[in-house]
Amino acid sequence: MRGFAMLKIGQTGWIEKEKPVAGPFDAILRPLALAPCTSDIHTVYEGALGERKDMILGHEAVGEIVEVGCEVKDFKPGDKVIVPAITPNWRSVAIQEGVPACHSEGALSGWKFSNIKDGVFAEFFHVNDADMNLAKIPAGMTLEQAIMLPDMVTTGLHGAELANIQLGASVAVIGIGPVGLMAVAGARLRGAGRIMAVGSRKNCCDLAMKYGATTIINYKNGDIVTQILDATNGKGVDHVIVAGGPGTVLGQAVDMVKAGGSIGNVNYYGEGATLPIPRLGWACGMGHKNIQGGLTPGGRVRMERMAELVMEKRLDPALMVSHTFKGLDKIDEALEMMHAKSADVIKPIVLI
Ligand code: NDP
Ligand code: ZN
Repeated sequence: MRGFAMLKIGQTGWIEKEKPVAGPFDAILRPLALAPCTSDIHTVYEGALGERKDMILGHEAVGEIVEVGCEVKDFKPGDKVIVPAITPNWRSVAIQEGVPACHSEGALSGWKFSNIKDGVFAEFFHVNDADMNLAKIPAGMTLEQAIMLPDMVTTGLHGAELANIQLGASVAVIGIGPVGLMAVAGARLRGAGRIMAVGSRKNCCDLAMKYGATTIINYKNGDIVTQILDATNGKGVDHVIVAGGPGTVLGQAVDMVKAGGSIGNVNYYGEGATLPIPRLGWACGMGHKNIQGGLTPGGRVRMERMAELVMEKRLDPALMVSHTFKGLDKIDEALEMMHAKSADVIKPIVLI
């Protein structure tokens, strides 16, 4: 079968591989819709996970099942399903010790596609533990909506969960690409009061206002800590969600959050050995400024809940789809678009 792969750090291309085989609990799917992710860009062009040779890229897919293993009970060939970017091994003992499922076999181990096994940018792909990881696409949901669920919706909303946003609280969301836009939506869904969204590109700023931002802060107009402190009479915000930007934004988040406040980070830092925490901003280590950084949860229930938000009209993630390509062959163009990220790009998708 054909797949679009990371050949080595900095290089991509089409390759031929054997069609994957389903174990007893697994499924083989063909994609119906795919999307490239900024994480693919970190992985290929920054070598953020280290070297990978001929690894098929992509972890955002909805697909049709073509084969299931003998132990799969709830799915059959022909079912159309949402495939979470994160597909933990739900039989891992560490889950019983309280380890989040997405890390149950070591940090980031639930992130299998385009990290520790071939991803979804191929004619066929393999899903482990199908009953526990797949969710049916509800009747009436469009592919444009469905393809935002495996990663963008769940990740942005997880930013709001990690920041533990409280009713009426003030929030800054740093970065309003698709992940940050869903973080803005997540802050609103959790009942935030003021939501200050940090970005620069007009399309993203306009959409951030639609998803619930109350103010836009342009990081190109000066230091965002100063801008946020000015906007809050020097107090800072109760919560920060970090969803974009270089390593320095984490320190800025610490500086702008109030003592006792919380920071939820879903940003993937692709470069550098350390991340800077400002000593005074972190009140010399004694400010009860909580930093939680997380990989998005995956699995079936998570996807079903994300789908419920769409079906109950709490959220329409399809507004983020800025470009639609047709045919698997276009995935390289879509990925390159994500790499170049011109002003009008929010999220390209590929319909197969
Ligand atoms: P985008 O590149 O589309 O968005 C990044 C955002 O950050 C843009 O709004 C950009 O502004 C803003 N930004 C850039 N530089 C700065 C700066 N110096 N200060 C403040 N803001 C800045 O990325 P995505 O939304 O696609 O993804 C966001 C991050 O989430 C990525 O690192 C991605 O890898 C990660 N991710 C993490 C996951 C997880 O499970 N934790 C899952 C999926 C993705 P503008 O472009 O408007 O100038
Ligand atoms: Zn992703």
